[in-house]
Amino acid sequence: MVTLITTELIEKYRNAKGRLILLDYDGTLVDFTSVPDTSIIPGHISDILAKLIGTPQTEVVIITGRNCKEIDKILGYLPVNIISEHGAMIKKNGIWENKVSDNTLWKDTIIPVLNQITLSCPESFIEEKTFSVAWHYRNVETQSGFTHSRELISTLEKIVHSFNLKILDGNKVVEIMPKEIGKGNAVKKLLEKNIFDFILSIGDDATDEEMFECLFNNVNAFTIKVGNGDTLARYKLAGINDVLSLLKNLTI
Ligand SMILES: [Mg+2]
Repeated sequence: MVTLITTELIEKYRNAKGRLILLDYDGTLVDFTSVPDTSIIPGHISDILAKLIGTPQTEVVIITGRNCKEIDKILGYLPVNIISEHGAMIKKNGIWENKVSDNTLWKDTIIPVLNQITLSCPESFIEEKTFSVAWHYRNVETQSGFTHSRELISTLEKIVHSFNLKILDGNKVVEIMPKEIGKGNAVKKLLEKNIFDFILSIGDDATDEEMFECLFNNVNAFTIKVGNGDTLARYKLAGINDVLSLLKNLTI
């Protein structure tokens, strides 16, 4: 299947006049690390990105759940557009813009709930972003982490509606954010302003499904889920190395 995607995809890529490449970061371009802020981009990945970014008629966008400061620390040296915090902020031509309402009073209710679960689940931790809050359980023993995450979600479900929030049940992370935030909405806005005859969208997690959904009926879009599991993406790739070899192929 990998070969089939590659042939068709590369041909469409080469013939396209306006290309959009949407890449998730963690779990798609780099492996997860035990602490989110220690992830750095290896040289060979940086080289592939730099080549793609420098290709005429090609807009590369890194679309990530990370906050803008963190992702800037990793990728700020590249002239790449970035969508951070699942769509809450956008960096275009080097300038960050806030895309959602500044009201984060809801955090005062949600963070104590996360504190509670963190106390009962050692090695889990809370990450507060500008517009969302995440509870990570990647360092917790698998079964215990999963059980605690179900408990947390069931508690949160009783609270989030009154604040117009949504719960993202991600890969060893539960994240809470306003409903208006999402990779799907962010991509929709990109498509309103530009015409692309080739779109490549790659991601590995629940948040990427919104992006795949938004591109579901777009005949110019190649949506690719990294890893196993149900997905709205048209294709699947097994892991990061397959993603990198596909991207590398585009730069040759
Ligand atoms: Mg990811």
